[in-house]
Amino acid sequence: MSIKDIYKKYTEHYLVDTDTRKIRSNTIFFALKGNNFNGNKFAKKALELGAKYAIIDEPDYEIENKTILVDNVLETLQNLAKYHRIQLNIPIIGLTGSNGKTTTKELINCVLSEKYKTTATAGNLNNHIGVPLTLLSITPSTEIGIVEMGANHQKEIAFLCSIAQPDFGYITNFGKAHLEGFGGMEGVIKGKSELYNYLIKNKKTAFVNPNDCIQMEKTANCNSVLFSDKIKFLEANPFVKLTYNSKNISSNLIGKYNYTNIAVAITFGSYFNISDEIIKKAIEKYSPTNNRSQIIKTTCNTIILDAYNANPSSMKAALDNFLLLKETDKTVILGDMFELGKDSSKEHQAIVDLCDSYSFKNILYVGELFHKTKTKNKTFKTFESLKLYIIKKPLENQSILIKGSRGMQLERILDFIS
Ligand code: ATP
Ligand code: MG
Repeated sequence: MSIKDIYKKYTEHYLVDTDTRKIRSNTIFFALKGNNFNGNKFAKKALELGAKYAIIDEPDYEIENKTILVDNVLETLQNLAKYHRIQLNIPIIGLTGSNGKTTTKELINCVLSEKYKTTATAGNLNNHIGVPLTLLSITPSTEIGIVEMGANHQKEIAFLCSIAQPDFGYITNFGKAHLEGFGGMEGVIKGKSELYNYLIKNKKTAFVNPNDCIQMEKTANCNSVLFSDKIKFLEANPFVKLTYNSKNISSNLIGKYNYTNIAVAITFGSYFNISDEIIKKAIEKYSPTNNRSQIIKTTCNTIILDAYNANPSSMKAALDNFLLLKETDKTVILGDMFELGKDSSKEHQAIVDLCDSYSFKNILYVGELFHKTKTKNKTFKTFESLKLYIIKKPLENQSILIKGSRGMQLERILDFIS
């Protein structure tokens, strides 16, 4: 069946699903394959649970009039998303970068949804499956789409751009994330800049932080919108405060690094003709969730939980910010950073050297990678050993920064800190 014919079926309800545990009625089920599962095996179940059709790529699982057999389910999903995107006559904003994509996407969405019917990436669905699913979640009533694009190797952003075809693009930053797949920092810049290359080639528009030299240099040949010069940083102690057109804005975001995430959201709001007052209201309304820079007050301590993810750049940003806080008794608990390839031990040592040089009361490192570094502070090879230590020596009246890669699941620390 051609993409055009599958598209006709899709436009009956504008629903697609890939997981039978979260299936909706009248949806089209895409039987994707992973390393440990074969979606074809779930096609029958999906249909029983209410799916209208199932797209499969193994003839053994065919069911008459219900399944649509294609060569490759994933490619069909991507082609359908691209076809749908071409039919949509709305602006699409594409976001990538090493850190801050989801936060920026949510802030932009918060601002733009005050005036427009927006559809944005749900959660962190930002890869070769998530981007097509995001596009296919855009129904005809949507006026602006906001698409997060993630990458851990070259050509990935170029590929995602070929599907999402953004009219506007923004790169949050170039940082030391996924160094392994990108092949070092130069590779990160090259890989992320594929978004700019797409925008330049297609005469689209980049949003640019004028204080970021790399962004300025890479967008020299691109139509660009610079951050509004009416935005001024005030402080990040602990929450980011700024002024916009002389109005004070008090965000619920901690970390100076969030200033640029907010600034670009304001700039998008102003570009799309949203009033200053409404932009302010939208930024002040937004509170982060999912362990991203959350402040949690426990009985005895104040915790800055940033356990969602970590890489050398975001670690440094978090430590620098924590250092600025006025509180006196500060504890830092850092967990391993993954996916750093051959730079892994060097980058862990660099973070240890930086953190050790700061005057925090307690510094605790956890994970096999930090355990191998040279430090005057405590390291714990396993999470369990850290847990036993903290239970024996409870933390009290501390401001505690907790940060580590997703795989470290450092939010578990909340279970035994009172
Ligand atoms: P992922 O690659 O997992 O999708 P992301 O790019 O979407 O991550 P967020 O989830 O928004 O990023 O933020 C993750 C963490 O990155 C935050 O908790 C914070 O520590 C850090 N961070 C956010 N914005 C910035 C920024 N502009 N510069 C540096 N670090 C940042
Ligand atoms: Mg994200």
